[in-house]
This record gives sequence, C-alpha cells and structure tokens, in this order.
Amino acid sequence: MVEPNSFFRVAKNEIFGRFIIASKNIQQGQLIFKENPAVLCPQVGGPIICFNCCAQLRKLFFCPDCRVAVLCNPNCKSQFHNAQECTALKTLPLNHDDILSNPEIVTPLRCLLWRQFDKNLLENFLQLEAHLNFRRESQIWRRNRVNIEDVLFKLKILDENDLRDDVVQKICGILDINTFDVRQPQRNRLGFNQSENLRGLYLKAALMAHDCVANTHLAVDDDFVLYVHAAVDIPEGSPIYFNYTDVLQGNDERKRRLLNAKHFECQCLRCRDCTEFDTEMSSLKCPRCHKGLLRPKPWQCSSCQRIFQDSLIKMTITECQRRIEEFESPTIEALEKFLKKLSFTFHHQHYLVLEVEQNLVRLYSQASPSGKNLNRKIELCNKLLEIFRKIEPGISRIQAIAMYELHSAVANLAQKCYNNKEFGTEEFVKRLLAAETILKNSIKYLLYEPVKSPEGRLAQNALSELKMLRLSINNIQLGEKQTKPTKNKRKK
Ligand SMILES: [Zn+2]
Ligand SMILES: [Zn+2]
Ligand SMILES: [Zn+2]
Ligand SMILES: [Zn+2]
Repeated sequence: MVEPNSFFRVAKNEIFGRFIIASKNIQQGQLIFKENPAVLCPQVGGPIICFNCCAQLRKLFFCPDCRVAVLCNPNCKSQFHNAQECTALKTLPLNHDDILSNPEIVTPLRCLLWRQFDKNLLENFLQLEAHLNFRRESQIWRRNRVNIEDVLFKLKILDENDLRDDVVQKICGILDINTFDVRQPQRNRLGFNQSENLRGLYLKAALMAHDCVANTHLAVDDDFVLYVHAAVDIPEGSPIYFNYTDVLQGNDERKRRLLNAKHFECQCLRCRDCTEFDTEMSSLKCPRCHKGLLRPKPWQCSSCQRIFQDSLIKMTITECQRRIEEFESPTIEALEKFLKKLSFTFHHQHYLVLEVEQNLVRLYSQASPSGKNLNRKIELCNKLLEIFRKIEPGISRIQAIAMYELHSAVANLAQKCYNNKEFGTEEFVKRLLAAETILKNSIKYLLYEPVKSPEGRLAQNALSELKMLRLSINNIQLGEKQTKPTKNKRKK
C-alpha cells in the first residue's frame, strides 16, 4: 500500500495505533502524497447520493445495467459506480426499493461488495481504527443494528458469521472515525463556509495522526482527489499530522469534539497550553474583579484567584453561540454592536469573538468601499492574520484567504485616498506595493490548492489581480518618470 520511494512509512505505537512518519526530510510545500477516495458517502442519516458522481439527487434514476444503483441521471458518466460494482450488485437478491426504503444500508453494502471483486481493498479498509469498544451498545451502535445490520441480514447479504464479527459495526465505526468532510461537486463555487456535506475515506490519509497544529495542508479537488502537502518542514522520523478538528475552535471545544467523534484525548502542545500560544482564544474576562483572565481549566482568575465553575463558563459560551447562530443575515452595524457586547465577557481574541470578526470581514467585503469600512476591514484582517499565523503556521488556507481580503482592502483604500488627493503618487505607489506583497504571499499559499477546486479558482483570480496590480504600478511609475523630465525641460 505504501510506495517504495514515498516520503513516509507506517509506524505503530500505543497512543496513535498505526500512523505515518516521514521517511526522509520533507520540505515545506512538498507534495507528500495524493490519493483517490476508497469511499464517498453522505453524512450519517444524510440522503442517498448518486452512486456514480456523488451529486445530490434532484430526480431518481437507476443504473440501466444492475437496476439497483441510484443515479442522478441515466447517462451519468462518472467513476464511482464501476463495472465491477455493477456486476457484483447484479448477483445480490436486491432491488432498488430495498435501497430507497433503507438509505443507511448503501455505504456498508458498497463496502461489503468489495468481498466479490477487491479483497485487498477490503483488507486495507478493515485494518483502520473502528473503536468498537467505545461504541458497543451506544446509541449509534443500536441505530446501526436496526437500520443496517437487521436489514442486510433479512436481505441475506449478511450471514450469522458477519453478525458475530460485527462486520457492519466495524465498517460504520471506520467510516465515522476516519473520513474527512468533502464538498459535493459543482457546488459552493467560491464558498468557504457552507456546510460540507459528504464524507470521504482515504486509506493513506486515514493513517495520519492528529495534532491541533498540523504539519500538513490538505485539499480535495472537484473530482475528490485528496492532496497532502507539507505545511512546514517535516524532519525525518517525525509523525505526519493533520488537524481533525476546527483550528478556529478553543481548547475545550476541540477536546470535546475529538473525544466524541474520534474517542481520544488530545495531548498536543496547543491543548496543553491554556493560553493557546498566547492567543487567549479560550479566555474570558473575570466578572468579579474585571482585571484578570479566566483560562481553562480550572477557570481561575489570573488576578483575584477566584475559581469559576465549568458549568457557568459552558452556559456563557452556549448562550453566545446561540446568539451568533440567530443572526441570519446580519448587518455590519448589528454585528459591530454585538462585538462590543462580547468584549465585556470575552478576551478580545476569544474564538467566538474571532468568529464574529470573520463574519464582519465578509460583510465589509460586500459593503460600500468607504474609507471607514476599508480601514476597519484592514484592522480586522491584520488582527486575524496574526492569530492564524500562531495557530496554523506554514502553508495555511485561512491565512491565504485573510491575506487575499487584506490586499484588496489595502489597494482599494490607496486608490480612494489618492483620488481624494489625500496623498501624492509616491505614497500611492508605496501602498500599492504593500498590497502587492500581501497578494503575493496569499498566492504563495493558494497555489497549493488544486486547480479544480473553489480555492484553486480563487488562486487563478488572485493571479490575474496580481497582473493588473503590477500593470497599474508600472503605469504610475512610468507616468512619474515621463512627467518629471518634461517639467525640467520646461524650466530650461
Ligand atoms: Zn451522477
Ligand atoms: Zn449498475
Ligand atoms: Zn490538541
Ligand atoms: Zn478576578
């Protein structure tokens, strides 16, 4: 499964189980590997998707050959419902009504079909972590038994031995623990914050251990190919990590999600540092002395030393999250007002504050480009960038996007001030050059995004904007050179 001249090899220890480590020094930006998904499936309880291209179904069609596989249109020409799967489906005592009335059987069924045509794939898949002991008789276990196991047994696709071996529970556990969220095709052309609605299982990537500070940059293109680049230099022998959780959440929230979904407690540097690399992303202001900070955990004030109950902090955070979610299409004024309110309770770099500020950056990008709006956008982008550099060092998508937004505000503001004669050509060029540097740095990271992806298309836009910016700077500088000698001649 691991190619001979690859950048990594599989290791094993008590903490991570099987994981991959660098088999040589890997430089920042190096493509460590790319791979196709072994499985693509909806989220748990999600709707059936096209067996072939994984698109959401607007109308129902069935494969003209096996008459079981559900397709988005009868001519869907994609790759995932291949001839082998089609043949295997034909051998089963199954029709498409069984699928439509039991949508949850689809993915486990498709994995079970590998028994007939790709035993090797099944074997590699079943070696992944399923955490059966954590899951046994849990709610999800019982749900899988009723919705999947019992149905497949009645359909005679599972036998007694399979039930005894918990084959279905194992498949479901492996999917829950090892899949990545990926976008559906042809959607979210330039959206970065829409909910991601498919799960992809990648056999090599599933062996990457977790660290809240990843040393890799992951990207999935429109054809679901996953690219793993080194985000920073990775020395030989070091584990190749990625971050399973959201880097923009605080320690408590990340820990909770990791424990629930992946069944382990993270012990990385960030998780062990209550200041989260001096970002204070989880810190609250002390409601008693109004001087100190409450950091996790125990939530003890750094000034008056009073300890606050965990439940109180949780309630405060839940209430704030609820209010953030309540904003459906907020105005700049409403969010700025809300931000002021938050500043009484939270540190100004708390992750909830940052979440609101990111929403504000988006709103300012769409707002009228007044001097006030542009200045505020610049202020917010600079603040966010400083934090992003600490929590996601090296090649980083959130840094790239923040720099892209920053460059456009800096360039727009420069143009505006110049038009208003607030400064002369020299200052104008200086500011445009600053915007150019920021844009170049953004592109440096965006170029690690696959061409066929929303971020890859953003990279292409950014490149043409860079060309335009360079052109305007050249023209202004050229205009300067031409006007100066003429003036001198006139003087003579
Ligand atoms: Zn399709
Ligand atoms: Zn078929
Ligand atoms: Zn961690
Ligand atoms: Zn205090």
